[in-house]
Amino acid sequence: MISLFRDAEALVRSEAEAAYPYECCGLVMGVLDGQDGDLRKGSALVVVANAREGDARRRRFSIGPEDFLRAEREAARLGLDVIGVYHSHPDHPAVPSEYDLSHALPFYSYVIVSVEGGRAGDMTSWRLAPDRSSFAPEPLEVDPGPARPES
Ligand SMILES: [Zn+2]
Repeated sequence: MISLFRDAEALVRSEAEAAYPYECCGLVMGVLDGQDGDLRKGSALVVVANAREGDARRRRFSIGPEDFLRAEREAARLGLDVIGVYHSHPDHPAVPSEYDLSHALPFYSYVIVSVEGGRAGDMTSWRLAPDRSSFAPEPLEVDPGPARPES
């Protein structure tokens, strides 16, 4: 399961709406918890510019190696790991495409948010099967996150 802090979940939605009608993308930072590290807590994002160009961004996203490196460094600075990839599906359901499957890596949680007519809707998460043949849905929940100090 992946548990996204509310602020991170809200940022995925706002980035997805801002990028519409193109796909937004980025990386999820957090920690692995629970037995076998199977509870993933996503607490912050690294927002990435979609490296695809022009109209290709409507149906594809790409994260460049320099952005992965930047995210790894940022995560290390915060004592976190890069645990997932998020992107949006403009006017498409929040299910992985064949393109997503062929470009996915093991380990990462793949968070997808659907954006219908510019408004973010369903959000789902997926994990690549060990043989890379398919995605399995991963339960996703929103965590209120750490309590903020009262002002
Ligand atoms: Zn996709």
